[in-house]
Amino acid sequence: MDVGKYVQPFRVTGGDLRLADYDPGDTGGLALEKKEARELLASGVELLAELQAKLYADDRWSLLVVFQAMDAAGKDSAIKHVMSGVNPQGCEVHPFKVPTAHEIDHDFLWRASVQLPARGHIGIFNRSYYEEVLVVRVHPEILDRQKLPSGLVGSRIFKERLEDIRSYERYLGRNGTAIIKFFLNVSKDEQKRRFLERIDNPEKHWKFALGDIEERTYWNAYMAAYEDAIRETGTTEAPWYVVPADKKWFTRLVVAGAIIERLAQLGLEYPRNSEATPQQMAAARKALLSER
Ligand code: AMP
Ligand code: MG
Repeated sequence: MDVGKYVQPFRVTGGDLRLADYDPGDTGGLALEKKEARELLASGVELLAELQAKLYADDRWSLLVVFQAMDAAGKDSAIKHVMSGVNPQGCEVHPFKVPTAHEIDHDFLWRASVQLPARGHIGIFNRSYYEEVLVVRVHPEILDRQKLPSGLVGSRIFKERLEDIRSYERYLGRNGTAIIKFFLNVSKDEQKRRFLERIDNPEKHWKFALGDIEERTYWNAYMAAYEDAIRETGTTEAPWYVVPADKKWFTRLVVAGAIIERLAQLGLEYPRNSEATPQQMAAARKALLSER
């Protein structure tokens, strides 16, 4: 699949981003039937599995994939579909919820640090340390529960956190963690439609929280927080993708494509066996074949 074409328009590596310029209903000029979209995704999933196998064998790089979005934007389903072909042994998914008392007893990056992917692994963050400049920024009263020394909480706190995140990601990159970040950009109308579907379908009730309706009233504040976060932390080494999320099939294609592209950039190859010489390999083969 020619991934670059679908992925490039949504990549943010710095500069003056305006979320309003991104259409949540964009499908990159593609008008695919469900079946075609499924086939295209399947070939992407296959390619991803091959790249993951090399990442694992190479055992030097790791890949951190961050998902952030408003409720019902499709984070869970994108993760489920895009990662459907990968080897579970080399992939971990971590959801980040309201911090526990134990987590609050540490700095805000701590709980993410302990969940980072090991070399050779893919780590998926379903929400992440970015919540600290998103939900916390929209509801600054959360800061009161974070047990920070009062002198350290000033009007610049979110600027400082963005700066710290940027440095943290640069540090990780320099240590062999490739990073890629997705903002699934769903429209307010589509979120409403998906909430109604959750309410109307008893099998989807578990996905619905009453608080989701309340959170929706802060939509503009969230968009402003996302815009600033993406602008301040989109870099060549740790790019953001503002992925159109009103059409799930297109979301999945862009996400798969971006991950494939990032892994492909690492130039991964299966490592050579440094222990056995070709002569020893030939001898081992001969010994196996002559077993009785
Ligand atoms: P969900 O992903 O729908 O299960 O919800 C998880 C909830 O945890 C969301 O409402 C997030 O905003 C919230 N959450 C995640 N991280 C933080 C954080 N650092 N501080 C406060 N709330 C958070
Ligand atoms: Mg929720």
